[in-house]
Amino acid sequence: MFDYQAPSQLLSGKIILVTGAGDGIGKAASLTYAKHGATVILLGRTIKKLEAVYDEIERNGNPQAAIVPLNLDGASEHEYLELANTLKSEFSQLDGILHNASLLGDRTELKHYDPTLFDQVMRVNVMSQLMLTQALFPLLEQSPAASIIFTSSGVGRTAKPKWGAYAVSKFATEAMMELFANELTDSNPNIRANAINPGATRTAMRASAYPNEDPQTLPTADDIMPLYLYLMGKDSLTINGQSINAQ
Ligand code: NDP
Repeated sequence: MFDYQAPSQLLSGKIILVTGAGDGIGKAASLTYAKHGATVILLGRTIKKLEAVYDEIERNGNPQAAIVPLNLDGASEHEYLELANTLKSEFSQLDGILHNASLLGDRTELKHYDPTLFDQVMRVNVMSQLMLTQALFPLLEQSPAASIIFTSSGVGRTAKPKWGAYAVSKFATEAMMELFANELTDSNPNIRANAINPGATRTAMRASAYPNEDPQTLPTADDIMPLYLYLMGKDSLTINGQSINAQ
């Protein structure tokens, strides 16, 4: 596991948006960021799940969260700008984005891959990250030190058979992270971009990709949080353009 012990108030006063905040790793990251002092903006498509995370943050006595319902599949530029305007009216800056939401798609060879599904996976896993980052850029620029974290995968580095659109989307995610990191170095040195490869983690997506695996043998989303904290906080200020394993 990535070795980092976060100070208890590492993210105190920070405003952080997490996509796919209602379940799996995104839920764990939202609860963890809030526990370390951040105001977390919970973005996702299933409001009931977001409300459950919101309530848990409240029960824990952590800074009040905000809920942003958005289906990343096909959201228009206008919807992203509206979202940015809503956040601008509530918050003066944004200190972090965790791009976490993803679709698995089918575990099928490319020659049989349904183009409609391929397109959907690319919209949710790739396009949404570009449009969300662009829309929120003016708010990121207001932060003295903003961190954008992308979520990669082992198949974002080696395209193993039958990982289809998901693998293509994770290679694209790695490229998008590197582009932002390299371009921002000169123009916006207060904003850094990195990627996390979570590794095999006990979530619904993992269970659907590996139905015959015993989930109890896998680390939980809570177990992999040290890297999520490290890259969001001040101890990683000099880290930019890196793709790092959480395990
Ligand atoms: P889950 O399937 O458990 O969670 C995915 C989250 O993304 C859910 O909250 C889901 O919302 C949300 N989401 C999916 N589609 C949309 C959409 N159209 N609009 C808004 N939100 C959406 O996955 P994990 O927690 O396992 O995965 C988190 C990240 O980690 C992903 O990027 C994944 O690729 C990556 N990863 C995970 C690994 C693992 O072993 N678990 C390994 C390597 C990488 P809802 O609940 O409403 O469907």
